[in-house]
Amino acid sequence: MHEGTGSTSVTGGVRGHGFSTLAIHAGQEPDPLTGAVVPPIYATSTYKQDGVGGLRGGYEYSRSGNPTRTALEASLAAIEGGSHGFAFASGLAAEDAILRGLLAPGDHVVIPDDAYGGTFRLFDKVAAKWGLRYTAAPLTDLASAMNADTKMVWVETPTNPLLNIADIEQIADLAHRSGVTVVVDNTFASPYLQQPLALGADIVVHSTTKYVGGHSDVVGGAVIVNDDELAEKIGFHQNAMGAVGGPFDAFLTLRGIKTLGVRMDRHCDNAERVAEYLAGHPKIAEVRYPGLATHPGHDLAGKQMKRYGGMVSFRHKDGEQAALDVCGRTEVFILGESLGGVESLIEHPGRMTHASVVGSALEVPADLVRLSVGIEDADDLLADLRQALG
Ligand code: PLP
Repeated sequence: MHEGTGSTSVTGGVRGHGFSTLAIHAGQEPDPLTGAVVPPIYATSTYKQDGVGGLRGGYEYSRSGNPTRTALEASLAAIEGGSHGFAFASGLAAEDAILRGLLAPGDHVVIPDDAYGGTFRLFDKVAAKWGLRYTAAPLTDLASAMNADTKMVWVETPTNPLLNIADIEQIADLAHRSGVTVVVDNTFASPYLQQPLALGADIVVHSTTKYVGGHSDVVGGAVIVNDDELAEKIGFHQNAMGAVGGPFDAFLTLRGIKTLGVRMDRHCDNAERVAEYLAGHPKIAEVRYPGLATHPGHDLAGKQMKRYGGMVSFRHKDGEQAALDVCGRTEVFILGESLGGVESLIEHPGRMTHASVVGSALEVPADLVRLSVGIEDADDLLADLRQALG
């Protein structure tokens, strides 16, 4: 196996194993040739061989492996507590490699009935055509939908956009009794707040487009595992299916990872203030934020997450048009899809990120607004919401 396909020595001799020490150093040793502190962007598709098969650094072609991507993959594995990381061109490309790389037509998968709409679309419109069968079940009762053909349970926690919380440890216990693989989409929490492999999950998947990258300037995905056999299969399909990110994407993502810990703490500080403010607002019917004591998953989130994250959703008392009006009136919160960047974003899931699930079991309430609370000054965010809510 060439060096680019995953990484086995993820901490690479880094002294100290605190989250931010690993985030800043793992996979990113100074360049041995020049001493450059930041891994260079290896903008090359191929590598000179010293005689046929004489690979200098183990690299032969950049779909199979690229040194900037290797640095990112080692970093991803280290910050998720895994042994192998794989970087993809997007979160959905990473998900596809898990589904079609590990499963076969006829296999059955259980997915949460409020998973990210694009994930559901991948199951429903792509993998199902290929022969995969799935059942969408309530996040808190995924085990009830398992049958003799179930090979995988797909968990997203917190969910997008309803911020529901699943018990990773309990699901992993149950699934493993029947030899079922557990995948956790850790995009909303980020590895700083939640480490699913340590809680018993087999595979972690990310849209690194979100908190991991953190600056709304790159689209990417990641798969992290702690098992050589799984790594071999994912690595094979990463290369065989070819949906890899480029070296500049890897560089941007690595730059984001270095500040993940400090960014997440600030996202959490701000989101807690926003959620409390909204919870006391007369025009809000319901606030969905795991940090609120009224949230049904509050205790569980407190157990398996370090803090409660930067995403807040709320339902407007006056219905869909009022929710759309709020989205159109904010000035600091930018109206746009995606999440997890330093800037605050607002969106209407029913008409935007989750439009693809309208009419399905995953349809979201029409009066729902989703906030990705950024790291601006909290007082400015509260003032913006105050004027937008009127
Ligand atoms: N998983 C979650 C929870 C998401 O929110 C998203 C995108 O919004 C994805 C996966 C897909 O990631 P990408 O857009 O990078 O393909």
